[in-house]
Order: sequence, then C-alpha cells, then structure tokens
Amino acid sequence: MRVAVIGAGVAGLVTAKVLGQTGHDVQVFDRTPDVGGVWSETRRYPGLTTQSPKAQYSFSDFPMPEDFPEWPTGAQIQTYLADYAASFRIPLRLRTEVTAARPGPDGGWTLEFDGATETFDRLVVANGVFCEPSVPVFPGLDEFTAAGGRVCAATEFHDAAQAEGEHVLVVGYGKSACDVTVPISQVAASTTVIARQLLWKVPRKVGGVLNFKMLLLTRMGEALFRYLHLRGFEKFLHGPGNGLRRNMINSIGSVSARQFKLRELGLVPPGHMEDIVRGAIGLATEGFFEGVADGSIVVRPGLTIAKLFTSEGRRFAALSDGTELPADVVVCATGFRQGVPFLGADVQSHLLDESGNFLLYRQIMPIGVPGLYFNGYNSSFFSPLNAEIAALWIAADLAGAVPLPDPVAMREAVAAQLAFMDDATDGHHCRGTKIIPFSLHNVDEVLGDLGVNIGRHVRASHWINPVDPAAYRSVTPALLKRLEDPVLTGRLPTGC
Ligand SMILES: Cc1cc2nc3c(=O)[nH]c(=O)nc-3n(C[C@H](O)[C@H](O)[C@H](O)COP(=O)(O)OP(=O)(O)OC[C@H]3O[C@@H](n4cnc5c(N)ncnc54)[C@H](O)[C@@H]3O)c2cc1C
Repeated sequence: MRVAVIGAGVAGLVTAKVLGQTGHDVQVFDRTPDVGGVWSETRRYPGLTTQSPKAQYSFSDFPMPEDFPEWPTGAQIQTYLADYAASFRIPLRLRTEVTAARPGPDGGWTLEFDGATETFDRLVVANGVFCEPSVPVFPGLDEFTAAGGRVCAATEFHDAAQAEGEHVLVVGYGKSACDVTVPISQVAASTTVIARQLLWKVPRKVGGVLNFKMLLLTRMGEALFRYLHLRGFEKFLHGPGNGLRRNMINSIGSVSARQFKLRELGLVPPGHMEDIVRGAIGLATEGFFEGVADGSIVVRPGLTIAKLFTSEGRRFAALSDGTELPADVVVCATGFRQGVPFLGADVQSHLLDESGNFLLYRQIMPIGVPGLYFNGYNSSFFSPLNAEIAALWIAADLAGAVPLPDPVAMREAVAAQLAFMDDATDGHHCRGTKIIPFSLHNVDEVLGDLGVNIGRHVRASHWINPVDPAAYRSVTPALLKRLEDPVLTGRLPTGC
C-alpha cells in the first residue's frame, strides 16, 4: 500500500521504518527542515535534554551512540533520529506542511500540501501531541510587545544569549520551565519563575547516588501506580501491600525534599510524591535548586501573571498577588495543544469525545474512520518504544492480522480507559494522548493483540532492572515472520 505519514518525529520515523519493512510504500511529510520533532532545531530551547536516560529513550534496534551522556541533549537526540532515518532510508518530504487530509473511497486519503494533492491508500497521523505550544494571552500584551517586550513559548526560545542583561520571567514549573530557566539565569539581569503550582521533582540521582531509572523506570516502578486491571504482584501492592507501596513512592519525595533542601527554599510541593502521577514525571533539572539557593533564580509559587504593562518606557508584569516585577522577556512553558487541524470536522467528530479527548483504540485507531491510524498518541516514559510497538500494531492491522473487537466493544474499551485515566491522573492525560505512568501496560496490551512478545524471564528481570527497549529487538522480526503466514494474517480463510 501507499501510506502517508504526517510527522517526522520519533513516532513518524518508526512508523515509516516498520511499514517499509513490511513492504509498504511510505512517504513521510514534515513541515520542518529537519527530522526529530520535539528535538528539531526549530523547537529546541537552551538546556533541553531528555528526561529518560539514553537507553530508555532508544528504539529497540538502534542504540544511542556510546559517547552520548546518560541524559542526551536535544541536539544529540536530533542527530540520533537523523541517523535512524538515514540508516533505514526513510523517504522524507521535509519543509512540507500537510494542510488538509480528506478521506476517499476504500480507506484511501487525499493529502493537500504546497498547493498540490496526492492520494494514498492509508494515512498515519504522527503530528506530535507536544508540538503546538499553548501560550497564554496576557492582558496588556500588545502594549508590552509594542514597547519591545517579548512573550514566547519555550520552544521558540532558541538561544540563552537573547536573555542577556534582560529581566526574564519563566512561566510554568514543569521540566521545560526548569530546564530553560537554568541557562537563562546565567546571563539574565533577573530570572523569576512564576509557578502556579509547585510540583514534586525526582532527582536524576536519588540521594545523590541511585539513578532514578532503578526506581521508576522498572516494571516495579510502574506497578506502584494502580492500573485499570491488576495482575499478579500488582494485586498484592494495591491490596495487602498498599502501605508498603505508598511508603516506597513517598520516600522518594522525602529524599528529594532533603536532597534539594526544599524546606529551606520554601519549595515543598503540597500533597505527596504519589501525586506525581497527576502530572508528568517531574525530573529535577541540574542546577535549578542550586540557582534558587544562590539567588540567581527566584521562584514565585502559587501565582500567575495578571497583566503586562509599561511605565515610563519600562516593561513590567503584575502578578496575581499584586506584586509588580520588571519584565523584558516572558518565556512560557505552559504546555501544548493537541489537535489535528488538517482533518475536517466530519472526521474530527469521530475522533473526539464531548470533552475533546481523542478516542483511539489502543491509542492508535479511531473507530469509524477507515484507513486512518495515529502514532505518538501514547506519550510515555519510553516514547520511542511505545511508538515502535504501535507501529508494529499498525503494520499488523494493515495485513489484517489484528483481532479487532466489534466497534461497540472498541468504543466501550476506549471509554473505560479514558474514564480510568481521568481518575488516575486527575484529568492530566493531555486529551487522552498521554499514558504515563502506564507505559509498559500499553506495550503489553498492544503486543498481546499481535501474539508476539519478549520472553517471560526478560520481562521478569525488568521488574527490578530498568526496562531496556533493546530487549524488544526480536519483536519486529518475529512479527514480520508471522505476517508472512497468510492464514495468520487473514489473507486466506483459516484451514486453506
Ligand atoms: C521537552 C520535551 C521532553 C521530552 N522528553 C521525553 C523523554 O525524556 N522521554 C520520553 O519518553 N518522552 C519525552 N517527551 C515526549 C515526546 O513527545 C516524545 O518522546 C516524542 O519525541 C514525540 O514524538 P512524536 O513523533 O510523537 O511527535 P513530535 O516529536 O512532536 O513530531 C511531530 C512532527 O510532526 C510535524 N507536523 C505536525 N503537523 C504537521 C503537518 N500538518 N504537516 C507536516 N508536519 C507536521 C511536526 O513538525 C513534528 O516534526 C518529551 C517531550 C517534550 C516536549
């Protein structure tokens, strides 16, 4: 089949690679001049690194270069992805924005780009769920920018030198906000973080010694959070072992508070470490709390920017408690909007529920829209691995080898999953596109549909050792072999 993939980030690239391996003619479109999505030169801010250590942020069959540090920079990940695209000869059309995608007969799709149209047999949307920044429109913005002030998303702030000698406000307290703050604070006249809400931060090295991956990027780490269906040891952890389980999570919070001297800095978040599941994993940025301690970074918790204004030719921000601060640059790390503007209203009506959540079976397949798949709508602690496994599912479904329930059952399964995530994350699942902290449950469920998986012993070893995507290297060849069997793929009636 001719398959179009929108997006050349992690998800689009791995989809193209897997579908290419299964014999499809794939074309990847991206509007940027380089591959990498989140890690593209067009979206990198100073201080950007992965949260996941390099082994956990790898595809199964393409290890990160040995000389990369444990937490590679954005530029290093972009290079890794460019090498991946080159190694697997992924057909790319860069600098090409898809402006419309319309369904046609037999599950086909017509794409519009650069004033041209082209027709494909199938479409995979991999346009990134953290691609379009959401920047608040502050009252007084026009006056502020007319006077030379700048308001931008962190992803639009590419060079710390732009902050030199300026009064900078960083809005947000997530990983991006803290990451961009540190290099800014080294050159700015003042750096103030406006944090509506303090969040728990996990040290990269807990207690200064233990890599956080040993605690949270294991199957045991995932099992500490209650999933929709409890299996095996999870039943103990969320039953008789509940006290032990809570202690395990919350002790990371106590260590973090001690390690970063959060009490002394007045930055102990409300609630418990367990609440981390309600946002994303907040990995602490190297140098952030040190900057707060030495005064180069000021954090204003519990506040927002009420308005921007100018006085006597100088620029200011008024905070929600009435404080006024000098402000030349406002960098917003305030999240992202998830959307598919290139799909028409008729298609979107099948995709979204009344709250705007994406209704995707296995985070991949919309119900009632033939020929359309999504990848990357399973953002996790191991995003490349989850995207790779989703790509295998798409390849198998194209071959007719996924045993799909009927549409009513699929809709019920999606609704149940969303209701669970609403409850488990207090609604912080980015419109149904983020599966944290249940990354491995998703891998298991998706592979369960395909009838391929890695050995039980290796999976067991991942209960105490960090999950290693390289352990999944055998899965693609196993699926390819399986797809060669016409009976299993449904291309011939069983028994032929
Ligand atoms: C700052 C940051 C740090 C992160 N760190 C981690 C981490 O450590 N570990 C982890 O597991 N996950 C992490 N993530 C999650 C991250 O989103 C995934 O790891 C992964 O990079 C997402 O890849 P993607 O391909 O789904 O989306 P993206 O990387 O966003 O790629 C989508 C691509 O689609 C293109 N596109 C969109 N619309 C169109 C269109 N209409 N036409 C053409 N092209 C289009 C975009 O230009 C973009 O290149 C991080 C996310 C962010 C924002």
